[in-house]
Amino acid sequence: MAPPQKQRYYIHGDQSESDAARYYCAECDVFFPESHFSETHRVKNYDRYDIAMRMLKTTKKNSNEYFRPEFAENLFS
Ligand SMILES: [Zn+2]
Repeated sequence: MAPPQKQRYYIHGDQSESDAARYYCAECDVFFPESHFSETHRVKNYDRYDIAMRMLKTTKKNSNEYFRPEFAENLFS
């Protein structure tokens, strides 16, 4: 029996697994082309990415329901 499918966890700037031309914007909660990330947001792109990476280390997001590949493609890494 196959293990249950874990849901991919995306942080700000992560490349979509289904569309390599799109990246996840955590502020808008939408996948956008790269050009979107030059628009003004409330939090600077790199800051938002950096905060999310810290959160990943301190929480158990890579556990039962969610996973994020260790070397996920990200615009800001
Ligand atoms: Zn956005």
